[in-house]
Amino acid sequence: MTEQGRKTHYASRPRKCSACGGGRVRDVLYGVPEMGDFARLEQGEAVRGKDIMDVDDPNWVCVDCGASFWRAPGDGLDDLS
Ligand SMILES: [Zn+2]
Repeated sequence: MTEQGRKTHYASRPRKCSACGGGRVRDVLYGVPEMGDFARLEQGEAVRGKDIMDVDDPNWVCVDCGASFWRAPGDGLDDLS
């Protein structure tokens, strides 16, 4: 009940979870997985998100505590179009 409305932004995937200190922050893959995605999912390098990514959906999650992390905007990264 404490993180509502407060997003944690990073330029790239954080190595450590800022909430629990765990080192298992994973990419969230939205939509239909592509060929390379299945291997990453199996290896636990990524987790599946929803089929359609909403603007508020996180780019990364901590698999230990469920904390969410967002990519910092304004990086010239625009892979959502
Ligand atoms: Zn965590």
